[in-house]
Amino acid sequence: MATYKNVNYLEKSSSEAFDQDHGPGATAPFAGIYRCMGCHREIGIASKHVLPPQGHHAHTQAQGSIRWRLIVYADHDPK
Ligand SMILES: [Zn+2]
Repeated sequence: MATYKNVNYLEKSSSEAFDQDHGPGATAPFAGIYRCMGCHREIGIASKHVLPPQGHHAHTQAQGSIRWRLIVYADHDPK
């Protein structure tokens, strides 16, 4: 699970971007931390980079396919 120490660096959001799953090899729409919804592995990725492919890690049958979901958005361009 993603962790943090200082709450001042994170902000709660209700954006639908956090509800969408992305397939292996898809382009990450946002920079940040993505979680595999099958096994809960997490990765960090830059905006517009390609999410890890299907063979990135192994799943059991019960874990299903790799589905990446944005769990923490990284702001590349703070105002
Ligand atoms: Zn996984």
